[in-house]
Amino acid sequence: MKLDELGNLRRTHLSTEVASKLAGKEVVVMGRVGDVRDLGGIKFFILSDISGSIQVTAPKAKVGKKLLAKIDGLTQESAVAVRGKVVAAKQAPRGVEVFPSEIRVLNLASVPLPLDPRGRVKANLDTRLDARALDLRRSESLAIFKIRHQALQTARNYLVSKGFIEVNTPKIVATATESGAALFPISYFEREAFLSQSPQLYKEVLTGCFGRVFEVGPIFRAEEHDTPRHLNEAISIDIEVAYAAAEDVMKILEDLIVEVFSDVKRKCAEELKPLNHKLEVPKKPFRRVTYDEAIKKLERAGVKVPWGEDLPTPAEKKLGELVDGAYFVVDWPMILKPFYTMPKKDNPKLSGAFDLMHKGLELASGGTRIHQEELLVKQLKQKGLNPQSFESHLQSFRAGLPPHAGFGLGLDRLTMVLTGADNIREVVLFPRDRRRLAP
Ligand code: ATP
Ligand code: MG
Repeated sequence: MKLDELGNLRRTHLSTEVASKLAGKEVVVMGRVGDVRDLGGIKFFILSDISGSIQVTAPKAKVGKKLLAKIDGLTQESAVAVRGKVVAAKQAPRGVEVFPSEIRVLNLASVPLPLDPRGRVKANLDTRLDARALDLRRSESLAIFKIRHQALQTARNYLVSKGFIEVNTPKIVATATESGAALFPISYFEREAFLSQSPQLYKEVLTGCFGRVFEVGPIFRAEEHDTPRHLNEAISIDIEVAYAAAEDVMKILEDLIVEVFSDVKRKCAEELKPLNHKLEVPKKPFRRVTYDEAIKKLERAGVKVPWGEDLPTPAEKKLGELVDGAYFVVDWPMILKPFYTMPKKDNPKLSGAFDLMHKGLELASGGTRIHQEELLVKQLKQKGLNPQSFESHLQSFRAGLPPHAGFGLGLDRLTMVLTGADNIREVVLFPRDRRRLAP
C-alpha cells in the first residue's frame, strides 16, 4: 500500500472528545488502528490515541470502493488519520462513532508484530522490554507512566512550595560518593572520569548558596546485582537543606510521601484500575524503628543479623512484615553509612542516618551530614579514600558550609510502590541492567 501524506490535515478532536453531542459534525481524528472487523454490511475498526478510543464505522452501501479497500489493507497499530461525520450509535462504545469520508494511512505497521499491545497474548517481561515501543502502548504501561508522571509532578510542586530551588549538577564526575556502590568509569579526554552515583557532594555544597535545593536526575550504579529492585541507571529525587538535621528532613520526606500517595490516589483513580492496585496512603508520623530494635525484632522472628551488618533482603522483607506500611529505620551503625554521614553526638558508633522503608522495600536514604572539614577528612581516611581527591569539595567546607541534612528518594522504587509493580523494570521506560543496554 502506498502511504498517504499528512499534508495540511490536522486533528480536530482527540478520540474521546468525539461525543454524540457532535452528531452531524465533521471531525478529523488521528491514532492507531485496532482490529478491523467485517460484519457483512459494515466494516469497522477502533482508533486509539492518548485519550482513549473511538469506533470508525463504514457502511458498505454508503462508502466508496476505494475507501473500503483502504480499510481492508489496514494492519493493527498502523497510524491513520480519519476525516468523517460524527454519528450517534447505540451499538458503538460510548454511543458514538465516526462515519469516514477519507482515511489517510500515514504509516502501515508490519505484521506480525513482535507483541500484542492489546495484551490478549501474554508476553514475558524480556520480550516486552525488547519491543518496548509497542509494550508502552498497553493500557497497563500507559497507566504506570501516568502515575509516575503524577508522582514526580506532585513531588516537585511540594518541594517548590516549601522554598526549594531545583538544580542540575554534573553527571560526569571525578570521585565516588557512595563507597559501597561501584562506579562506571568513562574516558574523559586524557583522564579517567566516572558517571555520578549521586548528586550528594554538589547538593551539600549548594546548601551554603541556596539554602534548600533539590534535584531530579539519574544516578549510575555499577553493581552487578540482578534483582527486581535495582537498575544500573535509576532516577533519584535528591534534596538537601541548610541548618537542618535528620529529623527535619524526615518530616519533609513524610509530608512529601503522603502528598504523593494522596494525589496519585485521587488524580489517578482511572490508572489504578487497570493495574488492580489499591493504594493505601501511609499515616503520619511514620514509625521510627532504630537499627537496634530492628535487629531485636528480627531475632525474635528467627532472622539473625549480627550487629553492624546491613539488613540483607530477606531480613528487610521480614521487617516489612513485622512493621508494615511506611517506616523509618534510624540510628544506623556508622560503619554501614557513607563518609559524609554525621556520627551521633552521644554515641559516635551510631549515625544520624535513616532509611525510609515501605513494606520491606528501601525507598530513600538520608541523614544529618558532616559540615566540619576536620571530621570529614577523618572519615574519608577511615573509609580508605584519599582526602586530596576531594580537595575542591573540602574548599566549600572552609568557606563556612552550614550544618545540613538531606535524602535521596528513588523515583523508580516509589513508582513501584504506587503502581504495585513487583519489578522495577516495569516502571522504567528503557531500563538499564546487567544484560540490557537496548532499546
Ligand atoms: P539498596 O540498599 O536498596 O541497594 P542503596 O542504599 O545502595 O540501595 P542509596 O545509595 O541509599 O541506595 O540511594 C538512595 C535511593 O536511591 C535508594 O533508597 C533507592 O530508592 C534508590 N536507588 C539506589 N540505588 C538504586 C538502584 N541500583 N536501582 C534503583 N534505585 C536505586
Ligand atoms: Mg540506602
